[in-house]
Amino acid sequence: MPVAEPGFFDAGDLVAVLTARPLARPLDYLAPEGGCHAGAFVEVPLGPRNVPGVVWGPGRGDCDRAKIRPVSRVLDVPPMREEMRTFLIRAAEYTLTPLPAMLRLATRAPGLGDPPSMRRIYRLGPARPGRLTEARRRVLEVLEEYRGLSFTLKELAEMAGVSASVVKGLVKLGAVVEEDAPRDLPYPPLRATAPGLELTAQQAAAAARLRQGVASGRYGTTLLRGVTGSGKTEVYLEAVAECLARGRQALVLLPEIALTAEFLERVEARFGARPAEWHSGITRTERRRCWRMVAEGGAQLVVGARSALFLPFRELGLIVVDEEHDSSYKQEDGVIYSARDMAVLRGSICSAQVILASATPSLESWANAEAGKYARLELASRFGPSALPDMRAIDMRTEKLPAGRWISPQLQEAVQGRIAAGEQALLFLNRRGYAPVTVCRACGHQIGCAHCDARMVEHRFLGRLVCHQCGESRPLPEACPDCGAEGRLAPVGPGVERLAEEVAQLFPQARVAVLSSDLFASSRALKARVREISEGAHDIVIGTQIVAKGHNFPHLTLVGVIDADLGLQGSDLRAAERTFQLMRQVAGRAGRGDRPGQALLQTFQPEHPVIRAILAGDEEGFWRAEAAQRRAAGMPPYGRLAGIILSGPDARGVFDFANRLARNTEPLTAIGARVYGPAPAPIARIRGRHRVRLLVKAGKAAPLQPALARWAGQFRLPANLRLQIDIDPQSFY
Ligand code: ADP
Ligand code: ZN
Repeated sequence: MPVAEPGFFDAGDLVAVLTARPLARPLDYLAPEGGCHAGAFVEVPLGPRNVPGVVWGPGRGDCDRAKIRPVSRVLDVPPMREEMRTFLIRAAEYTLTPLPAMLRLATRAPGLGDPPSMRRIYRLGPARPGRLTEARRRVLEVLEEYRGLSFTLKELAEMAGVSASVVKGLVKLGAVVEEDAPRDLPYPPLRATAPGLELTAQQAAAAARLRQGVASGRYGTTLLRGVTGSGKTEVYLEAVAECLARGRQALVLLPEIALTAEFLERVEARFGARPAEWHSGITRTERRRCWRMVAEGGAQLVVGARSALFLPFRELGLIVVDEEHDSSYKQEDGVIYSARDMAVLRGSICSAQVILASATPSLESWANAEAGKYARLELASRFGPSALPDMRAIDMRTEKLPAGRWISPQLQEAVQGRIAAGEQALLFLNRRGYAPVTVCRACGHQIGCAHCDARMVEHRFLGRLVCHQCGESRPLPEACPDCGAEGRLAPVGPGVERLAEEVAQLFPQARVAVLSSDLFASSRALKARVREISEGAHDIVIGTQIVAKGHNFPHLTLVGVIDADLGLQGSDLRAAERTFQLMRQVAGRAGRGDRPGQALLQTFQPEHPVIRAILAGDEEGFWRAEAAQRRAAGMPPYGRLAGIILSGPDARGVFDFANRLARNTEPLTAIGARVYGPAPAPIARIRGRHRVRLLVKAGKAAPLQPALARWAGQFRLPANLRLQIDIDPQSFY
């Protein structure tokens, strides 16, 4: 008699199937002919259609068996592993997300059910034609940049922004090869045992500890802290090597796609081939390939954005969260989750090591390390001769600046000196566009967005006003939309585009690059510019916060912060922490080569404790002071918060419902939590929807999520209202 295999359902058994449809729970079906495994990816009939789903477990059998339909088919993909199901369930519970929405995150691969097939792909060929048209050159650039990845004709043409005939022309020349290949190829193997760079004693000690952790085969989280340029990447690559050598898979999360190019090259130099990539910049073909290969074991290392955490790893042994403090790890819409926290959860479920790397850790991680929940490793000094930049304030109260100018004489002189020495300077201003406000000089009206409670921001390169909340844009009007006065509209305040104008006047000879996310049509274009800058093609770089994110600019020796006070305004819980991190990160861009760097901070409040802490470089002191304040106030990470955002088309309806929420808080008060609000959100309207916030504050050990679920469960939400619950909120807009 055959022995029943655990987790296997024979044909006709009742199984519960979870789909991504917003239903309250998995539905019962009959296991198909040939049976199926728990976790199998299947298609099931739902109403008139077939929808994809996952066999979640045995069926409940609480409805009429005669009506239960069989599973239509089992997809040819490895079943979802139990640890993945556990991860999705726990992540759903933590973030108060319905399980179907969580499943959607885990199945974001097009054509999952399609059978393996051949398709025509395009790659670099041997011929190197001498003279090329611009369009042809772009095609070759794309292929060069994404070496190792395969493209269909349509994808390649789209990526290069050319027509298919351009690609075909290159095929005729032999510069591009056209061939039929299996759809899902494994990634080339990485040489895990190849030696890395020779490490310093400090680096080697840290690497040894990380290797030990991976070798233990157990879960553990380590905070790897080290100033920018101290070799954190080099050190965690050692842990990756150990993980790969043990036949387990590794995942490295980066906060910004523009950083991946440099990282991929380092991986290639170290391990002899490029890893799998997972982010919004890859094609649908690659997305499917990556998903399948991760599941089948044909991908050893994945470099990706936060959503890579939901890939179906077969044997995940290590997760690195690089620049762990970065706010982009928090997904703010759709499923609201923190990839950093979910990485720790996933690691703990699949016995993987987690490395959180940063020069300026989040207070959460710092506190967890203090409390002994995380191990802590420090790299105190920069690698080689490069020293940390000298940091100084420029007191703007004593600098005389004409209207419409933002670069102080002191800063100007410093920049001049660097250019003369053939070095690079960075001017940092965290404001996209030309000017944050456009005001009518006749009536004082400020141009706002029609759908949002936000001012329109002038983008001069585009010739338009843009709302940074909803993305709506319109041409800059001639006349004031309020009083009709002609030619009286004026920009107020600086954005990077306006700063670029000032720079052009002050340094007419300088080669200037502006780095701002909105100025690049594609992540490829942005990456290309980052590369040019790191090769020294520009004298002055003007950038928003995207320049702060871990780029390596060896020629850069001066950083000028145009407005160091910008992030300190407002009452945001994390204003001090964020400003501290951002300023230290930006300053860290200077002097990574062999020449010493300097950072100059323009400020109107040089005595502000945060500014003083930044200048003093006393990180430990800063964290301690900040931690003491938060502890005294019962704020995270020493207490817990949940943000409740209620939105709807009419302000009255939203407020009325919010008031009902605020009056019936018994499930929350029962756990000692307090409810604040309702209050109009700081941005009280987005895309025509009025927004109201409540804030729930609880003790660190309080069972917040179940209480929130009970609380929200008491109400029937009117169809036009939307209720979002943001656990551990990072932003409060
Ligand atoms: P971090 O990640 O802390 O910013 P990186 O690992 O990127 O630091 O190192 C900064 C620079 O120093 C890189 O160019 C890296 O190749 C180099 N570097 C770091 N450690 C060593 C080493 N032991 N030997 C040679 N170069 C090193
Ligand atoms: Zn808007």
